[in-house]
Amino acid sequence: MDNKKLVRFLPFKGQVAGERRKLYFYRAFGMEVLYTRIFSFGACNFACPYCKRDGQFRTAEGNIVTSQDFEMGVVLTAVKTAIEAGEVVRLSGGDPVVFPEESLQIAEFARTLGAKISIAHNGSSPEFCRKMAPYLESAAIDLKALPQNFNTVAGLKNGTGAKMFERSLQSQTILSNIGVLVDVRTPIFGTTTLDDFLELAECIVKSGNIQNKFWTLRLYNPVNGCEFTAPRKDTVIWMIGEIKKVYPELKMGLRAKWDPKRFLYF
Ligand code: SF4
Repeated sequence: MDNKKLVRFLPFKGQVAGERRKLYFYRAFGMEVLYTRIFSFGACNFACPYCKRDGQFRTAEGNIVTSQDFEMGVVLTAVKTAIEAGEVVRLSGGDPVVFPEESLQIAEFARTLGAKISIAHNGSSPEFCRKMAPYLESAAIDLKALPQNFNTVAGLKNGTGAKMFERSLQSQTILSNIGVLVDVRTPIFGTTTLDDFLELAECIVKSGNIQNKFWTLRLYNPVNGCEFTAPRKDTVIWMIGEIKKVYPELKMGLRAKWDPKRFLYF
């Protein structure tokens, strides 16, 4: 592989990549909560209007406006730094699915250092998940919304939302069945009903090995220019209680912010 090859990433400096975040959901599996080092690719095949990575703002070439070119050699040095610091390298975005060769190159490089990695993927490609699975210890897979709401929530103008919903379930199945820990992530809005929750929960429980799955609900925080409404936290907690009555085996978490006290386990 050419280490001079340029790849789009959201900016990071020197040998240290982007944010450092905790893998909170590991606790639900009786594991130590490890830190991830986030490597954010600079393009995405979704365009969620509320995207905090600016995935809804693209250049004419389709790249996220704030992304920059990095040589793969620089990226791999940052991967090595993270692994040597005991962090789990997580390929995020944008979305790693837009950069499958580079994602595999990073995963193979990490393997030479004795490490498995993690991905945060919007769930659109079971094939990508299948290729990455041998290199993964965990994966965050988005299940953005029910099929009828998917196009709006993911900003898909091509109308493929229902297909993407099914692909997310397939991705979850592939990864959880092979033993990868899967954190299914769903944004929750003020309009999300208990029936919506129950339908989503049933799909998650039926897709793959539930022993390896966790469901994180992410409370929508209002974003300028978006028409979505924020949910009430107490209402969501009540709905989680109703879900747990039906699916007690489904491990769940609620995240409001990247603050340990704001991550609740159910
Ligand atoms: S899938 Fe993630 S990175 Fe892509 S636009 Fe949506 S929120 Fe942003």
